[in-house]
Amino acid sequence: MSHIINFSAGPSILPKVVFEEASQAVLNLNGTGLSILEVSHRSAYFEPILHEAMALVRELLGLPDDYEVMFLSGGASTQFFMSVMNLLPEGKKAAYVDTGVWSSKAIHEAKMIASIEVIASSKDKNYSYIPKGFDISPDFEYLHTTSNNTIYGTQYQSWPDSPIPMVCDMSSDIFSKPIEPHRFGMIYAGAQKNLGPAGVTLVIVRKDMLGKINKTLPTMLRYETHIQNESMYNTPPVFPIYVSMLTLRWLKNLGGLGVMQQMNERKARHVYDIIDSIPFYVGHSVPEDRSRMNVTFNLEDAALNKEFQTYCEEAGCDGLKGHKSVGGFRASIYNAMPEDGVKILAEVMKEFALKHA
Ligand SMILES: *Cc1c(COP(=O)(O)O)cnc(C)c1O
Repeated sequence: MSHIINFSAGPSILPKVVFEEASQAVLNLNGTGLSILEVSHRSAYFEPILHEAMALVRELLGLPDDYEVMFLSGGASTQFFMSVMNLLPEGKKAAYVDTGVWSSKAIHEAKMIASIEVIASSKDKNYSYIPKGFDISPDFEYLHTTSNNTIYGTQYQSWPDSPIPMVCDMSSDIFSKPIEPHRFGMIYAGAQKNLGPAGVTLVIVRKDMLGKINKTLPTMLRYETHIQNESMYNTPPVFPIYVSMLTLRWLKNLGGLGVMQQMNERKARHVYDIIDSIPFYVGHSVPEDRSRMNVTFNLEDAALNKEFQTYCEEAGCDGLKGHKSVGGFRASIYNAMPEDGVKILAEVMKEFALKHA
């Protein structure tokens, strides 16, 4: 294997053992003599894989029986409008919190087809914090939030006490820590940050959120279609689901989300300690809302950006360039990033700052 440490924001690193098992299954799935890429989704080869993936999602997240689990395609971006079409009855309004580019896109899509209100935003400070203390009227049907803001490096460390169910885009921190399912009427996440390859989207809906829409929706856009057909109304993304299942197995073997959370806290601290102790680096997020998944920072002297990037790359640290809306750098340290990888980055940051002291 290469010695490159991949800090890419997504698609991103997956556990090494998952890469190995997935590549083996491309050649020969569990000794069947068939590739995972050629088996029918309605075969005895694939159905147990899908069922195991669904069961692991339930087990790891601790989902009660009244939640439905779906593996869909179209990315989290499709859920920006599909959630609205399925959950927001005519004459009702939904509330949104705007915490960055992805929230804004969700808001943009929702506004095209329904009546929504942005009740809190951190746009005034380039999304460097999570809004708190805002009122949530129980008249809204639901509250849409984005748990981790991949681009800005902010993350909810606690949830507002919402009188209405939350609909949450968890694309970049799902399975990184335990959640409290009862807060959420719906959860969705593109797989490519913390779960698997691009091409599958995990969608979780509580049953009582459904059945309130009078309008007829196209078959593929109805959650009921996918629930009734166990995500096999049409051909599901077989390979991304298989790889996601392998990642979920890895998570379970590791000890589950409580253990994962401790590891993620420790990993993030290595980089934030450098940012806090060396003024050469300036973190983007306010400390209390810092993401454990995406660490965003700028160099005090932006003229050194190119040199820093090259220095990191020479040390094997790849994918650190920040998103254009924040600039600077972003270290994505998802579940699969080993602690040693983060330690190397912290060391490189320390050395580079010393060199320029
Ligand atoms: C990456 C990301 C998305 C986009 O997901 P797609 O699957 O590419 O549509 C949406 N929301 C968040 C929070 C993300 O990090």
